[in-house]
Amino acid sequence: MGPSRILVVEDNPLNRRLAVDVLRAVGYEVAEVEGAPQARVSLASSLPDLIVLDVSLPGTDGITLLGQLRADLRTRAIPIVATTALAMTTDRERILRAGFDAYLAKPFSPRVLRQVVGDLLQGRANPTGAPHG
Ligand code: MN
Repeated sequence: MGPSRILVVEDNPLNRRLAVDVLRAVGYEVAEVEGAPQARVSLASSLPDLIVLDVSLPGTDGITLLGQLRADLRTRAIPIVATTALAMTTDRERILRAGFDAYLAKPFSPRVLRQVVGDLLQGRANPTGAPHG
């Protein structure tokens, strides 16, 4: 079995670079796209083990794309981590209720991203990236 594959969907080039670099450093195979249309193209040709999805995207936003992925048998079971600059607790609850598996407020630390992704890939829920032994 090869390395886990992750798709990063993020329109901000710097934020995308940071997430991609952190995940590649762990050894994951990472694909990156800047928006929902490009994500659909990528998912049509190969399915990742996990998706890191920015909530605020131009055009189709992350919550809309999430709904489409959850409605599609091919993609409905893929763990999806929301990243968002929205920092309010109410936003976090709204985002988790929408069906994301985890929520990371930007800027997030590399440790938290590694923790959330690693846990989800092992089938362990950790919606906010809390550390554990
Ligand atoms: Mn964005």
